[in-house]
Amino acid sequence: MKLVLMGLPGAGKGTQAEKIVAKYNIPHISTGDMFRAAIKNGTELGLKAKSFMDSGNLVPDDVTNGIVRECLAEDDAKDGFLLDGFPRTVEQAEELEKILSDLGTKLDAVINIQVNKDSLMTRLTGRWICPTCGKTYHEVFNPPKQAGICDVDGAKLYQREDDKAETVENRLNVNIKQTQPLLDFYGEKGTLFAVNGEQDIDLVFEDVNKILTSF
Ligand SMILES: [Zn+2]
Repeated sequence: MKLVLMGLPGAGKGTQAEKIVAKYNIPHISTGDMFRAAIKNGTELGLKAKSFMDSGNLVPDDVTNGIVRECLAEDDAKDGFLLDGFPRTVEQAEELEKILSDLGTKLDAVINIQVNKDSLMTRLTGRWICPTCGKTYHEVFNPPKQAGICDVDGAKLYQREDDKAETVENRLNVNIKQTQPLLDFYGEKGTLFAVNGEQDIDLVFEDVNKILTSF
């Protein structure tokens, strides 16, 4: 089974990815892992990627695409894989089609875990941390007994910059804008399947299973 998994930050992509690779026994190929492996193995592309990262620059598409190509050509990806974090753009998606076609294969499905922006805001902005004991709380899902105060030691809770509403909203907007053309691309190809990510984790996975056992 050859899959791409998509979902905005907070949609629960990581959790579903774990469940999918365990059940279907396919390797989970994330962009981060691919870069780390290529760098660790000292491949030519890995070294190139490292030099861009070390200087604080984005790794250009031709390097990223090359690393994906090498990774998908490996034996353990022959019978299936779950791609995560790639493609990010339509250009990369087109390159992926080419890579797979060169390998004599194609994608079975692109699964998009759909969660609306308001729910994502609730999930991502409600995190509060205790500076004294490090315990984390969530305004909605795991609130402290008294708002803003640690249950354990009474310290005043704080929010990391990344968890603040404005930061989260910016990040979501950037992601939504970036993702839409990809969803359109796969939608037109007929390989896109949407799953309702507003449900409980297990129900989301049931829906994923229904899709994956339908072909
Ligand atoms: Zn505390």
